[in-house]
Amino acid sequence: MQHTLPKLPYALDALTPHISKETLELHYGKHHQTYVTNLNKLLVDSEFATASLEEIILKTSGNSDFAGLFNNAAQVWNHTFYWHCLSPNGGGEPTGTLKEMIEKKFGSLETFKAEFKTACLTQFGSGWAWLVQEGSSLKIVKTPNAETPMTKGLKPLLTCDVWEHAYYVDYQNRRPDYVDTFLAHLVNWDFVAQQLDD
Ligand code: MN
Repeated sequence: MQHTLPKLPYALDALTPHISKETLELHYGKHHQTYVTNLNKLLVDSEFATASLEEIILKTSGNSDFAGLFNNAAQVWNHTFYWHCLSPNGGGEPTGTLKEMIEKKFGSLETFKAEFKTACLTQFGSGWAWLVQEGSSLKIVKTPNAETPMTKGLKPLLTCDVWEHAYYVDYQNRRPDYVDTFLAHLVNWDFVAQQLDD
């Protein structure tokens, strides 16, 4: 199965001034595309040639013989998920069940944001911060490099890419400013809510 770069759910310049067109041209057009290209190369004549992206991730996780396949497949999945977590009309507040679950777990949206930001800032080096569903509750986790919570049975709801390539053009070394902007102006709470399992 040939994997393809999924369409971005908005224009390359749609997230300005928070994330520039230049960042999306590089991050989506080059980095994400490269993970897709490398994945397809690694799949040639592999036992996973007909597997879905999720199957590849789950079946290669933790197996050093398949580190390249895992890293590229997971990065393809993580980036597609990240793009959908962002919106030109993002930010604001969640509503409905998601709002109730956040308030039950964290006390308030502000406390959630503070804890999510801490996860983003304490992920040493490259990786991701996530809001995940665990049963009927929520949890913040962080993963290094290409790792994804789905391999631990956790359901991803929201992610922030904290690899330097996600923010260096716009924020240089200021990861805290990127995360603040992500939370204040970019999170697509409707998409996050749609990921909840009943
Ligand atoms: Mn990235």
